[in-house]
Amino acid sequence: MKIIDKIEKIKKEKKAVILAHNYQRPEIQDIADYIGDSIELSRKAKEEKKAEIIVFAAVDFMAESAAILNPKKRVLLPSLGARCPMAQMLTTDEIKRYKAKYPGAPVVLYVNTLASSKAQCDICCTSANAVEVVNSFDSNTILFGPDRNLADYVSEITGKKLITIPEWGFCPTHVLFQPEDVLVLKMKYPDAVVMVHPECSSEMRKVADFVGSTSKMCKYAKNTDSKTIIVGTERGLLHRLKKENPEKVFLMAYDDAICPNMKLLTLEKIYSSLKNEHYEIKIPKRVAKKARKALERMFKLNN
Ligand code: SF4
Repeated sequence: MKIIDKIEKIKKEKKAVILAHNYQRPEIQDIADYIGDSIELSRKAKEEKKAEIIVFAAVDFMAESAAILNPKKRVLLPSLGARCPMAQMLTTDEIKRYKAKYPGAPVVLYVNTLASSKAQCDICCTSANAVEVVNSFDSNTILFGPDRNLADYVSEITGKKLITIPEWGFCPTHVLFQPEDVLVLKMKYPDAVVMVHPECSSEMRKVADFVGSTSKMCKYAKNTDSKTIIVGTERGLLHRLKKENPEKVFLMAYDDAICPNMKLLTLEKIYSSLKNEHYEIKIPKRVAKKARKALERMFKLNN
């Protein structure tokens, strides 16, 4: 039996669903019940009523969010190595240190953080709703972690002072993009439009026609009249973009922008995860309760 058929069979037997992030390998996106960015997947995990098991084809912090929002379901991450390096850059000690330094400043954390960090913040945000979340506070000074580039982008739009925790937080995949590569591509494809993720540098944002989360990029790609689109985010999104827009041409702004952590998952690991019911995400109740509050507050604002 083919691995895909084995996954389908065991998925039905165990009443499981597979949620896959836009950066997953194409073959994983193809077998997933739902594909999306972190907010879309968190929402899906929250709304999921029938499944008893959620297999989260993504990295640690996303599976943690699903487990926090679904305390009665079993959430599995198929590889313990699938950890987001940016989420690891933020520690609870660092958050406490900044809180003490800026008493009263609201703390907004990107969902790309571990549950222990989420438990320390006022509200979570994603790259799709960060502007709205920051604007929901009257305060002009906001503590924001951990992505420096996203903080700069939000600060430019809202005019608020965002203090990044830690000062240097970044996504190792999105900082690989360089504006020079885009300019070279534009010489060859002068009519192409450029869309980039806000985790890219400010220099990349300057050469872009559109800046947005992966879900917003998918909408932009559908709506633009341009037939050629240069993409500044992890390579995995190309699969979905090409599927949804077969008449358009998508070019990576930098070919090797690949997140090794997202790519750790394979069909074999998904099958093994379903078969052995590993690795189950467990969050201490006290941490989960506080982190859930921060996530729920974000969803409430977004409704
Ligand atoms: S692409 Fe960047 S932010 Fe996303 S999981 Fe990989 S390292 Fe983390």
